[in-house]
Amino acid sequence: TTFAALGVHSQICDAIDALKYKEPTPIQAQAIPVALSGRDVIGLAQTGSGKTAAFAIPILQALWDEPRSGFACVLAPTRELAYQISQQFEALGATIGVRCACIVGGMDMMTQSIALSKRPHIIVATPGRLQDHLENTKGFNLKSLRYLVMDEADRLLDMDFGPIIDKLLQSIPKERNTMLFSATMTTKVAKLQRASLKNPARVEV
Ligand code: AMP
Repeated sequence: TTFAALGVHSQICDAIDALKYKEPTPIQAQAIPVALSGRDVIGLAQTGSGKTAAFAIPILQALWDEPRSGFACVLAPTRELAYQISQQFEALGATIGVRCACIVGGMDMMTQSIALSKRPHIIVATPGRLQDHLENTKGFNLKSLRYLVMDEADRLLDMDFGPIIDKLLQSIPKERNTMLFSATMTTKVAKLQRASLKNPARVEV
């Protein structure tokens, strides 16, 4: 199949072509139409499956339809993963002028506060540093959030980010879409799923 056949707009297909993705991977073919239809998604997929584009493409398409800052937030367990995710958002969103901020631990808070003040559309973050900015960066909040993604949820929970994620869930709108990706379905992931997703479609590769 093609990305266009999954319902992806031509502007975003142009960015996908520039990246030389010839056809959707299996997780993309399953997740993109479901996410575009407005449903929450739980995806069981490993790194290398194309899971990042599986959540980035529907979010970018929704952003194109309804542009605003603070549109989506992606939580990732490590800095390296957060950087890779924000790079993919920038590449896939190049044709629609997307602005991303990568908010991870170990980097200068002030530089990140300035990046947040530029009103990015997409915030990719490790949970602890995001919570730190919510508490300490004046004027920053997630009240206009439409999409929340929790990537590598099993690792997020293994790294004890659960309590911070519970707190973050209190700071974001209940009216939103949520996507949770995990390599494995553990008891802790199932609990997080129940706390954060509504009637999710399950996709698996
Ligand atoms: P991920 O599983 O999201 O970490 O993606 C693994 C790699 O596959 C990344 O380098 C992506 O750029 C690449 N990729 C994602 N989707 C496709 C696709 N449909 N065709 C070819 N490569 C892809």
